[in-house]
Amino acid sequence: MTRLVIEGCAIATVDGERTEHADGHIVVRHGYLDEIGAGPAPVSDEEEVRIDGRGMLATPGLVNCHHHLYQWATRGLAQDNTLFEWLQELYPVWAYVDAAIEQAAARAGLVALARSGCTTASDHHYLFPRDAGDLLAVEIEAAREVGLRFHPCRGSMDLGRSAGGLPPDEVTEDRDAILAACEAAIDEFHDPSPDAMVRIALAPCSPFSVTQDLMRESAELARARGVRLHTHMAETEDEERFCIELFGCRPVEYLERLGWLGDDVWLAHCVHLDEQEVRRFGETGTGVAHCPSSNARLGAGIAPVPALVRAGAPVGLGVDGAASNEAGELGGELRQALLVARLAGHGPRALTAREALELGTIHGARCLGREAEIGSLEHGKLADVALWRLDGLDRAGIADPVAALVLGARPLVDTLLVGGRVVVSGGELRTFDEGVAARDLLAQSRRLASRARKVPDPFLAGGGGS
Ligand SMILES: [Zn+2]
Repeated sequence: MTRLVIEGCAIATVDGERTEHADGHIVVRHGYLDEIGAGPAPVSDEEEVRIDGRGMLATPGLVNCHHHLYQWATRGLAQDNTLFEWLQELYPVWAYVDAAIEQAAARAGLVALARSGCTTASDHHYLFPRDAGDLLAVEIEAAREVGLRFHPCRGSMDLGRSAGGLPPDEVTEDRDAILAACEAAIDEFHDPSPDAMVRIALAPCSPFSVTQDLMRESAELARARGVRLHTHMAETEDEERFCIELFGCRPVEYLERLGWLGDDVWLAHCVHLDEQEVRRFGETGTGVAHCPSSNARLGAGIAPVPALVRAGAPVGLGVDGAASNEAGELGGELRQALLVARLAGHGPRALTAREALELGTIHGARCLGREAEIGSLEHGKLADVALWRLDGLDRAGIADPVAALVLGARPLVDTLLVGGRVVVSGGELRTFDEGVAARDLLAQSRRLASRARKVPDPFLAGGGGS
């Protein structure tokens, strides 16, 4: 048996006691964390692989709770629009996403997540244009290639414009077909075992793109099959007005009526909540995927994160789709979450650097139902570990390692382990060629743009690719 030993690093375990070591060790066996403690690792005559952790901070791998990987192919559009304007500009482009575009976008998005310290990623995929191929299978394969633990959500839209919804009819699906595809995704991909690399969730898209029947039936199906539920909620004031007009109540009450609050549910955004709604999240254990950069990009508002955490709700972090957060990196969301919480009017004690790290790790694990397996560095958990350099110009001398990670410059990992497997080392991705990912993304982004404008592909026509 080969053990993997990391020594000489600062460690923020994010365990129940929030144990930290200024200089400690981590020992990994069979993909699980075996020993974590101060000083050097206990001596052993086993065969071992050693990682020199000097000058670095070890944290649990970050958990991304909300994303739309396909949007990597449509970055930089609708830059100054509200959510509804942005969606109406992008839906007609997204209608042309196919398997090759999905593959390039998913690979690029997952590479960006890995480099920024993410070991477990969720993706909310609700776009299934006719004849586009099995886009869910394509992104699952991309996650396998990059080497991340993956929680793809089989999303859906069945409320088109002709029935009072926001999306054009051509990007919606038939309800029976959606439910059959959800069942098939669970049968084919969902792995309930503790070290699972893939787990499925069901995720109708949003109140303004999904019928009440589909919301209800998705919840019934998810509970019958033991998978989790996810959707967008209370992202903007436009959405609130839409719900009051169409359903006669605010978004949270709408969800509660449909059986959508509970500890098997996590919801993206939750920006516009009143005090009583925050309390209901805590009482029911409903999770929140906080996406501070995307909310800022769309000018949607700031989620009441400190109040949600005080109420007892799990609050994980998400980058959201790259069409509303072009960076798509999770490490930077730690800083963003801290800054917006303080700016929201609650002052400098609203969220500490350590609390921001908790959102990105153990809270994210709770959102995905995996707090027994990931989210902290403890004996018996999966060896999902991020090592961050503290001795480069961008962090050298910052008095506290956790502050260096959260408050310092854009954090990229030096080393990333997923189940003890090295995915990043020396700051370089070891599983997939980043240059290939970038070239494919450029080619497929251009191809999508020309498909949507119904003009010849610039590469096939030889006019614009280089
Ligand atoms: Zn989203």
